[in-house]
Amino acid sequence: MREAIDAIELGCMDRREHGFFKFDGKTIHVRNAGANFEAVKGTLRAIVNSNNIKEIRLLAHADCGAMKLVNSVLKEKKEFSDKVGSGLMEKINEVLIDQFRGIRFDSVEELCRKNNELQAEKLRAAFPGITITRGDEPVDVQKVTDTGSGHEHHSLYILKPSTKTYAGMIGGNQFDAYVLQAMSIEELKPDIAIALLLGQRSITLVAQSAEEFMTVRNDMNSLKVSPNIPSGLKETMTMVKVYKLPSKIM
Ligand SMILES: [Zn+2]
Repeated sequence: MREAIDAIELGCMDRREHGFFKFDGKTIHVRNAGANFEAVKGTLRAIVNSNNIKEIRLLAHADCGAMKLVNSVLKEKKEFSDKVGSGLMEKINEVLIDQFRGIRFDSVEELCRKNNELQAEKLRAAFPGITITRGDEPVDVQKVTDTGSGHEHHSLYILKPSTKTYAGMIGGNQFDAYVLQAMSIEELKPDIAIALLLGQRSITLVAQSAEEFMTVRNDMNSLKVSPNIPSGLKETMTMVKVYKLPSKIM
């Protein structure tokens, strides 16, 4: 019998974070750029509405690429519209960057700490009946020693929220892959663009069950016609089915 899901972990897509999630069969994982509530609140609400969730654990982390992007835009006044298209840049502002306007920070390190506090506050406000937990400090991913095969360019995996470990779902070394997990591809489009800005060079969509197959195929088609995904990357886009694997290695 499958165990009932009673906890959510909201984490970042960063490949160094894979080992910090809990894989007890009862914890479902949601991941995006920066462990950012704003971008995946629809997914979080849907999970809360259909499960008896007692706890949401936040895994915001140090040395976060999403916070480096926020810093580049707000402190260094860098422009990225030419790289992701102005429509999507507006969306990135709306779901990620705008929430940090008016928050004081002097370094990316400090911004990562503020993010850890801010996202926990947002979760508390959105889900008053649920225990929200976070570390006193952002997750220290810089301590992680297994950081993949040492490839300079990493791949991006797009998964639906799941309780499963990543080893069975990601081909090759799991620590080479960034992971986005939300229910709808629309929610993830700004995060996909952020991942591309941060240097991801291929996209793999994962269907974790036969029921998911059609949705994931539609997601892939949606990305293929998206004007914001560079055509070179569209050619890299693949879909893998993992649901035929024996459950013990998933
Ligand atoms: Zn991050």
